[in-house]
Parts: sequence; structure tokens; C-alpha cells
Amino acid sequence: MPDATPEHTLLTPGPTPIHPRAMQALTRPMLGHMDPEVFALNREIQADLRVMYGTEESTFTALLAGTGSLGMEASFANLVEAGDEVLVCANGSFGRRMAEMAARYGARVRLVTAPLGEAINPDAVAAHLDGVRMVAVVHGETSTGVLNPVPEIARLVRQSGALLTVDAVTTAGMEPFHMAEWGVDFAYTGAQKCLSAPPGLAPVAISERAFARFAARRAPTPLWYCDFEGLRDYWEDHSYHHTVPVNLHYALHAALRAALDEGLENRQRRVQEVGAAIQTALAPLGFTSYVRRPEDRLPTVLALRLPEGFDDAGVRTALRERHISVTGGLGPTAGLIWRLGLMGETARPAPYLTLMHALEDILG
Ligand code: PLP
Repeated sequence: MPDATPEHTLLTPGPTPIHPRAMQALTRPMLGHMDPEVFALNREIQADLRVMYGTEESTFTALLAGTGSLGMEASFANLVEAGDEVLVCANGSFGRRMAEMAARYGARVRLVTAPLGEAINPDAVAAHLDGVRMVAVVHGETSTGVLNPVPEIARLVRQSGALLTVDAVTTAGMEPFHMAEWGVDFAYTGAQKCLSAPPGLAPVAISERAFARFAARRAPTPLWYCDFEGLRDYWEDHSYHHTVPVNLHYALHAALRAALDEGLENRQRRVQEVGAAIQTALAPLGFTSYVRRPEDRLPTVLALRLPEGFDDAGVRTALRERHISVTGGLGPTAGLIWRLGLMGETARPAPYLTLMHALEDILG
């Protein structure tokens, strides 16, 4: 591989281009993970994560040293014990990943599904809550571009007494997310998505109810690395648990600050505006929304049905030769849709103008 990668236009639903402030932060001199300066930085990260997730002052937030999937795994590893009934909303590949993980930690998994391209119906959740200890749902299902109705699902789950885990990988930091108001117990995302930080960290928020469930476990979690107690030892008591990737903390801190400086509502507006402009620009070429109901559309991942007879693989290869990455469908939607990312630094007019010019050139 050459030393310098040419300028690249990354329009995928993650990773996103690294925010310039995060890129600069990566070059800061290395400090030890037990350095007081790092603990001060971590405290700022925790406070900013509380704002991003819309939590209460007392809610514990932290970074896990891994990608978004580690956030997902930490939830099941800490909050599920063998034989627990866990209801998983699975209307895409990330919902199914949750079900797979829950089962590996011994859960008896109940699935609530929806046809591809449709959101989970809260009534279907309500019908299966009896005896359930935990509910898990993906807020924005990246594989289909569907936004699930988390506030409505959360209301039902709260009434049932079960815990609620929400995958906020495509939403937190770019879409409304109100953990305290909705009653979410565990939320996670990946640094490389809406925050445009480098991959390798999973920001999480854990409610007091979740800690109480954890404290009542019959046996320690099998996942030592993300044991809630171990996380607290490091993030609150400043005692060694494992060596956190300090340089990634610098970058995430800078990206998160940039997001809050911009303002979460301004970011939501930016996604809407750029998304509408892309759809207007692509409509004359024959691209249409894959997700039928407008209220089910995930603003940060535009799932667009390809025009009749469109050479998906050929056009994406031609784009890649021009250093532009676009993601197609996954599994049953391969060859049927494109999934255009609108997270973090991808939700800007300039990269999409680059795409439009390239498409004009390729399609003639
Ligand atoms: N959940 C959702 C909704 C995702 O889109 C992704 C990744 O694309 C993940 C979980 C897994 O995240 P990672 O690939 O960072 O492990």
C-alpha cells in the first residue's frame, strides 16, 4: 500500500471521515492510562457523553475499548444470565446480531420481527413482554435504513419492569436521543459513526437500574474485559483495570466536543437538509426511497432503491476507481439498494456533490 492514500470520498454508513479536530488530537503526545491528565480528560468525556445521550447527572458513561459490537456485547454479558427471557426486536442484520449475542450469554430469546424495510410495531412488543427481563432494540437499523420507534417501545418496556438496551450506533450524536426521558437502561454507539472519531471505541451509558440488575447477578459476567464493576473501578475510582487506548480517547474527546459545539439540534438539521438535497438530486436518475413509510426512514442512512436495470456493481466499481466509496445492500437487499451514510462528517454537501459529478460522468 502506498504511504499516502489519495483523497477519498467516504459515503458509507460508517466509518465516516475523521473530524479535523479529532485528527489533530491523535497527534498529541502519548500519556499513560493512569495519568491524572487522562483522568481529567475522561471526566470531560463522561460529562459530554451524558449530554449526547440525554442522561441524568448520575448516569454512568464510559468508553469501551472496542467497536460498536463490543458495546452490544457488554450489554448482554453484564445484564443477562442463563435462562433469562430476552425479547429482541430484529428487523435487520444488527437486530439479528443482538439476538445471536443474547443467546450466547444464555438468554431464552424471543424475537419480534418486521418485514424488511419496515419498523418494529410497538404492539408486537407489547404482546410478548410477559416474563421478559430485558428488551433490546436497534434504534437505526443500518442494514435497511429503518428507524425503529424507540420512545414508544421504551414506554411499554418501562411499564413491564424489564430493562431496555438500545443500539444507538447510527443515531446518538446526530438524531434525537433522550435516554432519561425515554427510560433506556443501556445505550451504546461506535466512535466511527455519528461522531466521526476513529474506530476502536464504544461510548456507553448505563442506568442505575442496569447497575442494580448487575449487582444482583448469581455469577460474575463471563466477559471480564467489560465487567461493569471493572469499568467503574477505572472510570470512577481511577484504579487499573486494563490499558485504555489513550490516543483514541484524545480523538473521541475532540470529536465529541466538536459535535456539542456545533449543537445536537443543528446536527439533526444538517442531516435533514443534506438528505433532502441528495434525494432531490438522485430522483431524476430513478432512485426512490426503499423504506415505504416516511416516519420509518432513518435520516442518517438513506436507503435508496436503485433504478430499473442499474448496474450496481459496475457503477460502484467505477466510483471506487474515482476514490468514492458507496455501500450497496446487505443480504436480501444486495443489488437492490444503496445505503448512503449521513453520519458525522459524511453529512456535508461537498462529498455528495463529488458523487453527483462522478455519476454524471459514469452514466453519461
Ligand atoms: N449496530 C449497528 C446499528 C451498526 O450499524 C453497526 C455497524 O455498522 C454495529 C452495531 C456494529 O458496530 P461495529 O462494526 O463498530 O462493531
